Amino acid sequence: MDVSAFKDVLLRKRGELVALGGLKPLQHSIEHNNGRQGDMADQASGNNEVHIQLRLKQTDAKILQAIDEALTRIEKGSYGLCRDCGEPIAEARLNAIPWTRVCITCKEKQKL
Ligand SMILES: [Zn+2]
Repeated sequence: MDVSAFKDVLLRKRGELVALGGLKPLQHSIEHNNGRQGDMADQASGNNEVHIQLRLKQTDAKILQAIDEALTRIEKGSYGLCRDCGEPIAEARLNAIPWTRVCITCKEKQKL
């Protein structure tokens, strides 16, 4: 398995997430709502936007953490091994989600 190719993908994805975090695309519309003399409905929609933004950021933060862990595993030489059962993770799964920690079998178990 070509680990260096996965490392490139992980580093690129990491850069995208860091860039996204810096742009804060919803910030402008929130400021716009706050600056207006709005009624309760406007306030509610403003709160929803904040909520969505926070949730997106949490997801991004989780992926960022998973990417960092994957990069650490690459350095240690344990990349591509399932965290739970220790078996190699299928390369097709790594291609789809390079920062995944577990194999598809263990992932399915988590859902149950
Ligand atoms: Zn497993």
